[in-house]
Amino acid sequence: MKFNHAVSGIINGTVRISDRTKYSVITAAIACVHVLLVFVFGAIGSFPMTVYNICSVAGYLLCLPFIRRNSLGWVFAYICVEVPLHSMLAIYTAGWDFGFAMYLIAIVPVGFDMSFALKNPLRGIKISMIFGLVSFVIFISCRMYSYYNVPVYSTDNMFFVQTVYFVNMLCTFTLLLVYSLIFASEINSAQTVLRQKNKELANLAAKDTLTGFYNRRKMHEYLLDAAEGKETFSLIMSDIDNFKKLNDGYGHDCGDEALKTVSDAFRSCIAEDDRICRWGGEEFLILTNRPLDDAADTAEKIRSAVENRRLIFNGNDIKITVTLGVAEFDPSSSIDKTITAADKKLYIGKNSGKNRVIK
Ligand code: GH3
Ligand code: MG
Ligand code: MG
Repeated sequence: MKFNHAVSGIINGTVRISDRTKYSVITAAIACVHVLLVFVFGAIGSFPMTVYNICSVAGYLLCLPFIRRNSLGWVFAYICVEVPLHSMLAIYTAGWDFGFAMYLIAIVPVGFDMSFALKNPLRGIKISMIFGLVSFVIFISCRMYSYYNVPVYSTDNMFFVQTVYFVNMLCTFTLLLVYSLIFASEINSAQTVLRQKNKELANLAAKDTLTGFYNRRKMHEYLLDAAEGKETFSLIMSDIDNFKKLNDGYGHDCGDEALKTVSDAFRSCIAEDDRICRWGGEEFLILTNRPLDDAADTAEKIRSAVENRRLIFNGNDIKITVTLGVAEFDPSSSIDKTITAADKKLYIGKNSGKNRVIK
């Protein structure tokens, strides 16, 4: 179950494979292919190629500590030299029909994948392009060579030739499939990260950090949308009472705590589809899809919630109140005029004793 979860995570990009894991697996896989080839060349009867493959296995095993230390450059260099060299020697030794040239094709995407892990990606891509071209030239040269030359070791056993061809084909396809899977997974993973970052950035750009409410810029978008919709809606403009006194008496930090306390009270009173923003320093604007009287009820709920919520700061029990002005949008008017109307009601509330709702 856990394994399935990990595999599906790798495929859809939610689980990121680290470079160490990826290149360890690939290096181990290439080492396994060479172990197979030790037996193949043993059966062909080529002592030098048997020894070469034993040395290759040892070489790949020696790469593992380098991968663990993230010294990938040497590992890539080793793979890029070893695989083409092996193909050339294998074709020279056993001829074309065994299918050793297929590794020259499989190694091309490996080179490109590795370029991503290098410090300088542009340089990595250039090296991969050159490597791809070199592989192609070696492939063609080997084909031409085997047209005109008899291999060192030849056999009439076609079943054996076909079996080795099949093994080489299987290894090549497995390598290509694994690489394609890694590519797809990495693209998915990059897209998942990008989507997440975009979401975070959009959130950061739209929200006020102290209260978690929308900022004025984002609220403007919602206000314009609401005005365009021409449906009934109201605005509640609110301002904390005597906030300067609180700041002066208890300090700016206490003022910030008061803003948080007030915003919690606001949050507990508004409906899910209401929009609230920090309009100014200690002013909040609420956009609610309700007619004037219902919006005034919400405003009264807020006023009472703020009044009943006490702020304890440095042992001081501080009472906070807010005054709120409510105005309904008139489709024949403009959003700016509605904001001004709510502001005027708020001003009336301030002048008539504060801690009240005016509609
Ligand atoms: P009124 O009852 O008439 O509203 O009086 P007031 O003292 O609240 O006056 P006003 O609304 O003009 O107060 C604005 C003050 O809010 C000024 C500024 O020091 C304070 N303020 C604005 N933003 C912040 C903030 O982010 N943190 C803190 N601590 N204070 C802020
Ligand atoms: Mg103010
Ligand atoms: Mg104020």
